Amino acid sequence: MRTALINGRVLLPSGLRDDVCVVIGDGEIKSVSSAAPEDARRVDLGGRLLVPGFIDTQVNGGGGLLFNDDPSVETIRVIAETHRRYGTTGLLPTLISDDLSVVERGIRAIDEAIDTGVPGVLGIHIEGPFLSVTRRGIHSESKIQPLKDDYLDLLTSAKHGKTLVTLAPECASPDQVAHLVSHGVIVAAGHSDAPYETVRAAINRGLTGFTHLFNAMSQLANRAPGMVGAALEDDSTFAGIIADGHHLHPATLRVAVRAKGPHRLMLVTDAMPSVGSDAPSFVLQGREIWRDGDTLHGADGVLAGSTLTMAGAVRGMMEQGRVPLATAVQMAAATPAAFLGLGDRIGALAAGMRADLVLLDDDFTVRETWIGGQANGAQQTAD
Ligand SMILES: [Zn+2]
Repeated sequence: MRTALINGRVLLPSGLRDDVCVVIGDGEIKSVSSAAPEDARRVDLGGRLLVPGFIDTQVNGGGGLLFNDDPSVETIRVIAETHRRYGTTGLLPTLISDDLSVVERGIRAIDEAIDTGVPGVLGIHIEGPFLSVTRRGIHSESKIQPLKDDYLDLLTSAKHGKTLVTLAPECASPDQVAHLVSHGVIVAAGHSDAPYETVRAAINRGLTGFTHLFNAMSQLANRAPGMVGAALEDDSTFAGIIADGHHLHPATLRVAVRAKGPHRLMLVTDAMPSVGSDAPSFVLQGREIWRDGDTLHGADGVLAGSTLTMAGAVRGMMEQGRVPLATAVQMAAATPAAFLGLGDRIGALAAGMRADLVLLDDDFTVRETWIGGQANGAQQTAD
C-alpha cells in the first residue's frame, strides 16, 4: 500500500515546493510528483513543512536515561523514541569516556538494537576514553587513557551499523587511526590539545571528522592553527557543531559555516538525559549535573552536554547562524548522512531514498515523523 503525502510544503534538494506530493511505500520514497496516484492512501499535511528526517551523530541520552549508565537495548529504545519526538530519525547513541567493559556492552547493545529493528539506530559513537586530560571537559579524568593496540579489536567489533570513534590524535598513533579506518570505523578528533601538525597527520591517515568543533580542542591562534585551524582549513573533513546558543558565540557559528560550508558542517545535539525529561538534575558518573534553563553544568561550572534537540538545533542555526531553512536542514540531514557514508540512503527527500521524514509547524514543533515509511504519532488523514 502506497501513501501519498499531500498538501505540504516539501523541502526537496532543489528547494521548497508547495505543489508536489510525496509518495511512500515499501519503506522508501517512491516518487515526488504533481498528482497523487489513484490507488494511494492520502494523508493531508495541512500546509506544514515536510523535510528529510534529522540525523544526530552525538546523543548521550534522553528521556531521563544516559547511555553510559545502562548500555542496553531498552536504554537505546528510550533515547531513540525521545529524540524522535524532536525530529531525529537517525542517531548514534554516544558513550562518553568509560571503562572498556562499558564500551563492549555498548557495542553489543547497538548490534542487538539494529538486529531487532529499534527504529532510527544507525550505529554507535564512542567518544573517548582516548582523550586529552587537559581538554576533557565533563569527561571523568579517571576514565581517560591512551589508545593501546590491544583495544583495536574491540573498537572494530560491531557487526551492524556505523562505528564512530572520537579520539585525541595525541593519544593515538597515525597507524592506529589508519587501522581503525581500514576496518570501517569513522574516526573523529575531539577533546584534544593537539597542535595543527598532529591533526594533519591523522587526517592524512583517514581521520574524517571533528567532534563539537571549537569546544574542548586546541584553538586557532596566529602562529598555532591548532585543531580548529586544521578543521576549518580542510575541505574533505566534517565537523559537528552544537548550535544551542551556549556552547558557541553566534559569530563563531557564522565563521564556521563560512569557512567549512554547510556540506561539511553538521548539527549535533550532544544531548543528555534531560531532553524529554523534567528532572532538575541527573548523575553523570557519580557527579551531579544540574539543569539551569536550557544549559547543564557540573559543580565546577563546566558545560555538561546540552538539552538541545535537533529541531532546536535547526532553529538555532537559522536564528544565530543566519542561514536559510534549506541550509539548516542540510546541516541536520544530508551532511551527517554523507559523514556516515549513508548519503545514498538517507538525508534527503528524493525518490529512491528511505522514507525518513519530519513534519514541522512553522515554530519547528514536530507534528509527525516517518522512519522507513512508518509514521509515529497522530496524523491527519484525508480519507
Ligand atoms: Zn564531548
